[in-house]
Amino acid sequence: MTRFAPPQVRACPGCGAPFLHYPIQSISFCDRVDWSDGAPTAWWGREPLVKCESCAALFWFDETVAIDTFTDEPRPIGPIARILARLRGDPDGLLRLEREWIDRSNLWKGARSIGKVNFEDVRFVLANAEGVSISKILWLRRRIWWQLNDRYRERSDGTPYPNVPTLPAHEERANMEALFALLVQADTEDRDMVQMGELLRLLGRFDEAIAVLRAVPPDGRSEIRASMIERLARADDVRVQLLGGEGKLNTGSGHRGRKLG
Ligand SMILES: [Zn+2]
Repeated sequence: MTRFAPPQVRACPGCGAPFLHYPIQSISFCDRVDWSDGAPTAWWGREPLVKCESCAALFWFDETVAIDTFTDEPRPIGPIARILARLRGDPDGLLRLEREWIDRSNLWKGARSIGKVNFEDVRFVLANAEGVSISKILWLRRRIWWQLNDRYRERSDGTPYPNVPTLPAHEERANMEALFALLVQADTEDRDMVQMGELLRLLGRFDEAIAVLRAVPPDGRSEIRASMIERLARADDVRVQLLGGEGKLNTGSGHRGRKLG
């Protein structure tokens, strides 16, 4: 079940414009589509890198702070209670609470939703990412990798993804090689050996891919994915493929592609 925590108002670090954020407390997938590159098939909520709709600043969401959290409207004050509160100088603070709530709801009304970054935004941030943490660099490079890989994916009606970006082949390779190198260096929690094997496979380094995939520690899922990707490597296949979970997402849309049995 997906539940939503109360919306928050946060501020753009560039221009201070307020934006609304709906924290998601839990996520569930009815039937997750599993692509060999591990690309998420439902972009829930927001990505870690966002764009201000007012000033177009690009910033990391976790570097913003909540300036207000949505609360329910205070109980309405009846006409007599209102007169009494005025006459008595508002001893219980009812009028003050009401005023504060109106001010805050005006802030909420003025807040826009936060913008999504596009491929070029991600590349721009990566090109200027000095001092950025390895987890964030990993995210930027994965985001580029996944979006380029969209050319291998189909939508539920069998049509190709629209507006898939392209890069010259050597730049695409360089991104995959850099991503692989980051995963080699990464802490255990960020290291994804299945993804390392997949990168080697897509780079055509099949023997290395097979060696890495065979060494994936079993956890009930990873070793199954690894063995499916290993089969692709053995077949000298360098395309992203659907591993499983063909069919429905709980958004009502679905994906089709070649499914490995
Ligand atoms: Zn801004």
